[in-house]
Amino acid sequence: MALLFKGGRVVDPAVGLDEVADVIVRDGRIVEIGPDLSIPKGVTIECAEKVIVPGLIDIHTHLREPGFEYKEDIVSGTRAAAHGGFTAVCAMPNTAPVCDTGSKVRFLVERAAAHGVVRVHALGACTVGQKGEALAEMGDMVAEGAVAFSDDGHGVADSGMARLVMDYAKQFGVAVISHCEDLALVGKGVVNEGAASTILGMPGWPSAAEETMVARDIALAELTGCYVHLAHLSTARSIELVREAKARGIAVTCEVTPHHLFLDEGAVTLDYDTNMKMNPPLRTAEDRAALVAGLKDGTVDAIATDHAPHASHEKALEFELAPFGTTGLETALPLVVTNLVATEVLGWGDVVRLMAHGPRAALGLQPVRLEAGGVADLTVIDPEARVEVTPDFFESKAGNSAFLGTSLLGKASEVLVEGRFALRFGKVVD
Ligand SMILES: [Zn+2]
Repeated sequence: MALLFKGGRVVDPAVGLDEVADVIVRDGRIVEIGPDLSIPKGVTIECAEKVIVPGLIDIHTHLREPGFEYKEDIVSGTRAAAHGGFTAVCAMPNTAPVCDTGSKVRFLVERAAAHGVVRVHALGACTVGQKGEALAEMGDMVAEGAVAFSDDGHGVADSGMARLVMDYAKQFGVAVISHCEDLALVGKGVVNEGAASTILGMPGWPSAAEETMVARDIALAELTGCYVHLAHLSTARSIELVREAKARGIAVTCEVTPHHLFLDEGAVTLDYDTNMKMNPPLRTAEDRAALVAGLKDGTVDAIATDHAPHASHEKALEFELAPFGTTGLETALPLVVTNLVATEVLGWGDVVRLMAHGPRAALGLQPVRLEAGGVADLTVIDPEARVEVTPDFFESKAGNSAFLGTSLLGKASEVLVEGRFALRFGKVVD
């Protein structure tokens, strides 16, 4: 069946495209892009006042399956992804059991292919059980489809082991995603060390606990020649370290999350809202400004959600006991449109760079471009759509959003995965 996307603003800087045009899709491929196109029969999708971009990808998603299906699973997580405008996600391996063998990667890949609403790329663990003691079966995992490695959740503490991980990852030509956290420096820290920890009377988590590991992993990237991708950077100095490393030609990339971009430590107020408890913690207004500057000048390669669903009874604990993280898949795009595009901090080409091309390039994934012959993975965005972030807004099983109660502007109306609707009229298609 042919699809005609009519009269949208088609934006893809990778092919020099930013103009009002029509897009024809057939048999999972983009057939033609141009003015005044028509199809003899098929479905026409009116896209006037909408923006058509290459399919967005989130390279940092916790799908929680297997082991934590009460928080999220492949079906609910990929439904949330489609609802948020994503055509693909990368699933973090800190499940139970940890995804650290080829057969566990195959389980995820096969289940996601059968039951997922959008594409799911598997990430394998760096070390067995993410314990940091022995190398995981990296070769087997790559053979089964793992696209990168990460001990996300805490990182690889031992520098010798981190080097070994990178030496091996380099042999397989895949990236290592580094969760930069010096556990000894963090200690029992739960909020940014400084004003937040002093005012709230809770253990502080210093910026240095991130920056020492950013510096270490940049040094190890230089030593090993491995592609290193730094996850969820939160401080101004981290961004500066990446800027310096890139200037020196080191193969390092990085991501920032919407919650670090759009919230600061002031969001953790005396009502101790556990939805504001993050790893790494929300930082200062100056740090936030540095992350935005990094988005603009190309130091930051990707906006990634770190979608971290939890059950309500888990987040209902005291602040110091509650788990870290916020959901993110369904609010990321509306937050970016509201806070960066509508305010003209970024253009639509930047959104494509940071949410489609940059993240795929960082992990060496196949690029997705709006061009004839290209795979039909695309996202249609209505920049004027109102999004009220209420508990019933979510497709995710989890409601632990740091943005509950906010009113945003801009939402995906259609998501197409290889020519098939995952989202239509703003609703998830099974
Ligand atoms: Zn992490």
